Amino acid sequence: MSVDHDGVVLDGDGTRCVHGGQPDPVTGQPLHAGPVLSAPFHLGPPDEPTPADFYGRSDNPTWRALESAIGELDGGECVLFASGMAAIAAVLRIGAARGGLVLPSDGYYQARALAHAELGPLGVAIREVPTVGEWPTLDGAGLVLAETPSNPGLDVRDIPAAAAAAHAAGALLAVDNTTATPLGQSPLALGADLTVASDTKALAGHGDVLLGHVSTRDPELAAALRAARTRGGAIPGPLETWLAHRGLGTLDLRLARQAANAAALVELLLAHPAATDVRWPGHPSDPAHAVAARQMRRWNGVLRFTLPSVDAVGRFLGASRLTGSATSFGGLQSTADRRERWGDAVAPGLVRYSAGCEDTADLVADVRQALDAVG
Ligand SMILES: *Cc1c(COP(=O)(O)O)cnc(C)c1O
Repeated sequence: MSVDHDGVVLDGDGTRCVHGGQPDPVTGQPLHAGPVLSAPFHLGPPDEPTPADFYGRSDNPTWRALESAIGELDGGECVLFASGMAAIAAVLRIGAARGGLVLPSDGYYQARALAHAELGPLGVAIREVPTVGEWPTLDGAGLVLAETPSNPGLDVRDIPAAAAAAHAAGALLAVDNTTATPLGQSPLALGADLTVASDTKALAGHGDVLLGHVSTRDPELAAALRAARTRGGAIPGPLETWLAHRGLGTLDLRLARQAANAAALVELLLAHPAATDVRWPGHPSDPAHAVAARQMRRWNGVLRFTLPSVDAVGRFLGASRLTGSATSFGGLQSTADRRERWGDAVAPGLVRYSAGCEDTADLVADVRQALDAVG
């Protein structure tokens, strides 16, 4: 959102997060609108046109407010879903109707699970490729999904190159932008057809809501996504939507602290003998830094490192006062997730660490003594 006031463009990240999707000022109306919880809406006389809002599975004013805010940040039209997976499911079904699916072998595991369990048996060809490396032949592909930065490896895919490869094969490119958030990366501006995200993570940001969205610049794809949502029924609750909109207001602030904390933790981890395999695209020494710096606007709090064993991760978690043992990421509290437990093909001691909004000095001191306790 850019607030244009007497020719002055006010479009910084914080301004856009705070003002995006907020109602125009009307004297006597609330400064902040509440969630609209009604399932049916008044239809009026039977011979009059159906209003925009008639039933809560099709549309809702609370959705439109957040869709307007996220759409402005993504640079496209946003369609909300009940969760990140509901959004990915809609994207994969649209892709499967056009041809085969090409999925990241090292990305979020439920996207692959959904394709193999529900779309493969219907005859959809599914190929998996790692985030880093050349594409195989994309002939016959209807949709290519890239996840960048990827989870949990935090590898980075060159989005303009991926878009060129997908488009040369006649396929759509969708980018899972969950880790970066719309402030950190603009896949649509880099050539992607669809940007999809789990807003459960940093966008809503407080760990109390599941939500997802897809944005696109193609009006036909946007209409297809809305129709798929209405038919499939994976709709976000208005209360969850309203909570996510409230969370979005502080995304700029939270990302800044999380990225500063991640940068400080990475320095600590790189120098500490207990940790190996430290990855964070924001660090100049990271193998993904050059391509990440070309396409990302700003960094975030998600990093990874490997401890020697499952026991070592247990000692680390037991010794840290600030780090929660939890999956998900992008929340206020720092959390660590040992990814092998979910079936990711990674070392047993690989930890995806989500730097939260604690004070940097406190977090570094706490994590340092937890690493020391690993031995
Ligand atoms: C969490 C996550 C998802 C799934 O989102 P939900 O909101 O949990 O359904 C998809 N992609 C990535 C990269 C994620 O981290």
